[in-house]
Amino acid sequence: MIHVLTPDVYNRIAAGEVVDRPYSVVKELVENAIDAGATEIRIEIEGGGKKRIRVTDNGCGIEKSDLKAAFLPHATSKLRSAEDLAAISTLGFRGEAIASIASVSRMEIVSKTEEGEAWSLLSEGGQTGEPQPAGGAKGTCVTVDGLFFNTPARLKFLKSDAQEEGDVTGMVSRFLLSRPAISFTYLINGKVRYRSFGDGLKSAIAAVYGADVLGRCFEINADRHGVVLRGFIGDRNFYKPNRSYQSMFVNGRYVVNQTVALAVANAYKNYLMTRQYPFYVLFLELPAEIVDVNVHPNKSDVRFADNRVIYGSVYSVVSAVLDGSSGALEYVADPPRALAASGTAEGSATPAAKTPSMSYAEAKKELQFDISPIGKPSVIPYREPKPATLEVRAPLPQEEDHFEENRRQLLEQSKAKQERLDPDTLAFKGELFRTYLIYEAGDEAYLVDQHAAHERILYDRLRQKCETRAALSQPMLLPFILHTNGQEFAFLLKNLDILRSFGFEIEDFGNSFKVSAVPVDLFGMDLEAFFAEVLSSMDTLRVIKLPDLLKDRLATMACKAAVKGGEKLTDGEVRSLLREMDGDMGIKCPHGRPACVKIRKSELEKLFKRIV
Ligand code: ADP
Ligand code: MG
Repeated sequence: MIHVLTPDVYNRIAAGEVVDRPYSVVKELVENAIDAGATEIRIEIEGGGKKRIRVTDNGCGIEKSDLKAAFLPHATSKLRSAEDLAAISTLGFRGEAIASIASVSRMEIVSKTEEGEAWSLLSEGGQTGEPQPAGGAKGTCVTVDGLFFNTPARLKFLKSDAQEEGDVTGMVSRFLLSRPAISFTYLINGKVRYRSFGDGLKSAIAAVYGADVLGRCFEINADRHGVVLRGFIGDRNFYKPNRSYQSMFVNGRYVVNQTVALAVANAYKNYLMTRQYPFYVLFLELPAEIVDVNVHPNKSDVRFADNRVIYGSVYSVVSAVLDGSSGALEYVADPPRALAASGTAEGSATPAAKTPSMSYAEAKKELQFDISPIGKPSVIPYREPKPATLEVRAPLPQEEDHFEENRRQLLEQSKAKQERLDPDTLAFKGELFRTYLIYEAGDEAYLVDQHAAHERILYDRLRQKCETRAALSQPMLLPFILHTNGQEFAFLLKNLDILRSFGFEIEDFGNSFKVSAVPVDLFGMDLEAFFAEVLSSMDTLRVIKLPDLLKDRLATMACKAAVKGGEKLTDGEVRSLLREMDGDMGIKCPHGRPACVKIRKSELEKLFKRIV
């Protein structure tokens, strides 16, 4: 029975806009299908979801007498009293989604319960008609056409079809993973993108990421005093260029939560470098009393009664598994040979080791260990996360902004430009350690790191070249194929023209790209690494412009060809290096290390105690 929540209940629910993008519509509709107990769910989108979104399920259906109520704001069958809020077991509970989606689209719901007949109800901008007899099997089919047709301002805020499509795909992939017992079919513009068969998590992971990822993962199943963590985590050598391959489900709900994300990231810290992100599909299961799902209008974050306990549990399990410590055997299902060396583990999944004797309060004490243990100084200190805001996604942890850094360097460099000397006044005096060239000018000596200086010069030249778009492309014998996920695909697709202007010949097909030519200076470059770097910027690219990034990456890669320290230069090379430096003694290598060090005569005199 659907009823309208009383204001005293409704006012306790985290309010805010739930539908702002096609992917949030898909999220709400699929959550409803799951709450209805569906075992088969079909999701179809057209035009990035702007044109049409349709979700069909075989769940319990809606009674004819309830059909109109479903369109009312705050109308739900899932929650009655304020007490119910304390232990929510359904994905929905706010009674808001259907009403808000209907108010900004043309919506049709066709539904049939086990006993009843099929009825359909149409709504245009929230104005519903009367239920009409319809046909169809048990279950519900919700069609949303022309999202935001009556709110042009919001329509304008949508991204391109490909980007919206990528975000929907990211969201759908999380449903496949979080509900492996449901069989999903996901179609984009009439073509099947994902299909899962409701036969388990491994199969769902294979449906989303391909079967080969499983071989690079640990399967874990751990119970730390009632905090259950299970799923798959990539091994130490399996990493991805961005966070879009990370999924965390808390009590069955996909969330972006800082505490858990940080715990996993810190556990991997010792194995991965910056801009390498672990792969994981993790399920955290907690007693409903210690997790609050009612903190965010999109229900995309949760709050834990005690963040430290959660952090501690997740960190200790994941790091034990990665470190291969003996404790890990308890958590790893199907341990790989290296871990199972002690012979304790038997073939199939080890049941989670349970310690029921310990109370939650005791566990809390035990798990409140220091979050930055000695010997792991690289671990980011734990900070209480900021309370959830109304943003659609929880903000990603602050990352070093590469381009801020570049800008800062450029500024410093321009200051250093004042150090410019007339090259003719510099006398070459020899070299040290086959790396440092010595120059004298008046009362000053300069040591030039030949490698760093050469790198800088090349880098500037290449950036310049990119600037003037003089890049020529060179075809490759064998094309390079880049496989991407939905978000990555959309990101690259949007930026194809930019890549092409740099000399790449790149085409999209299916979920992949074919690169058949590269900029001439980069022939033979490591394309895998290059695209990993480009994709790594996807998360932060709102602040960065791709052309800048490309210029930087191309130049950096070409710099690897620069003369290395340890090679003796000929007199001619020394002279040409100096000429290219053009007397600029403030020069720095592209990574910001100084390429030139000045030593005053007086400093030497001090060393020899000639002066004090
Ligand atoms: P909520 O999910 O928070 O209850 P919604 O606005 O999403 O609110 O849905 C309103 C009500 O409509 C639900 O409580 C449920 O009774 C009914 N409903 C919506 N979608 C479905 C569905 N696919 N199958 C069965 N009932 C549904
Ligand atoms: Mg709902």
